[in-house]
Amino acid sequence: VLFPVYFLAVAATSLRYDARICLMTGALAMAQYGAIAGYAAWRWDLNAAAFAPFTFGIFRWSDQIWRLAQIAGATVLSATIVVRTRELRLLSTRDRFTGLLNRAVFNEQLDREVAFARREGTRFAVAMLDIDHFKRFNDTYGHAGGDQALRLVAQTLRQSCRETDVVARYGGEEFALILPGVRSTRAHDLLERFRREVAATAIKLSGRARPVSVTISIGVASWPEDGESAAEILGCADRRLYEAKERGRDQVVGPPIRLARPAGERDPDETQILNSVKPLVPPDR
Ligand code: GH3
Ligand code: MG
Ligand code: MG
Repeated sequence: VLFPVYFLAVAATSLRYDARICLMTGALAMAQYGAIAGYAAWRWDLNAAAFAPFTFGIFRWSDQIWRLAQIAGATVLSATIVVRTRELRLLSTRDRFTGLLNRAVFNEQLDREVAFARREGTRFAVAMLDIDHFKRFNDTYGHAGGDQALRLVAQTLRQSCRETDVVARYGGEEFALILPGVRSTRAHDLLERFRREVAATAIKLSGRARPVSVTISIGVASWPEDGESAAEILGCADRRLYEAKERGRDQVVGPPIRLARPAGERDPDETQILNSVKPLVPPDR
């Protein structure tokens, strides 16, 4: 009577999107059913009328082996569905050319990060990156050379970031990052390190003896100082990216350095300025 339940259990494991769980469940189901059948054949007279639903009238080992094969078949099918579904999911979230996340997933992640930061009071930074004079690079080294450079920049960014950072290809030769838990002051230093790493990456183009390199311009914005919503913060990072381009490229433009520092670290001039500012609301309210 319980035999069909094995199929339901094996099929249900595919909802966990982990092929190992499917295989383990199938193996456990086969072991359990095999043990029950073996025990019953050893202890009881399975040709008795009471066992007819289990034996179809006469007990035969071939029937039981066929049942085990059916569970094995269901297990392989379920694991295959999981593997295929994961492949599809990967294709729909990644940019196939660089392997980074795509723009749609980046936007979703940014919305999620804003909601999380609002609820938990955490910080994060967003950066927009654009390769400098890439049209010229393509013109000089060909489109295949440009593609090679693009892939290498993507790889360098991925390697420089933490597991929890979101690294996406935002457009042609534009990339976007979300750095969770990073404050504005540190964001600038981090992106400056990325900029230097990309500039120092030697690109060995096929058919050319000497390696070449590219530079990138970066705009950084941080939450909540530079915008309350995903659109505002992304817009701010984008404006700073254009500022970086205008200032001569190969540089990072981040949030302006703020005056507010703990009282003990302020210099006398700063303290004087802050003391001269009258509060809007009287202190006794
Ligand atoms: P700027 O420093 O102002 O960014 O100059 P730029 O030439 O990089 O200007 P822009 O960002 O507008 O140029 C984008 C160029 O990048 C256009 C196109 O030739 C090139 N590009 C975009 N996507 C790809 C790609 O997938 N492969 C290659 N090889 N080139 C690409
Ligand atoms: Mg561009
Ligand atoms: Mg560019």
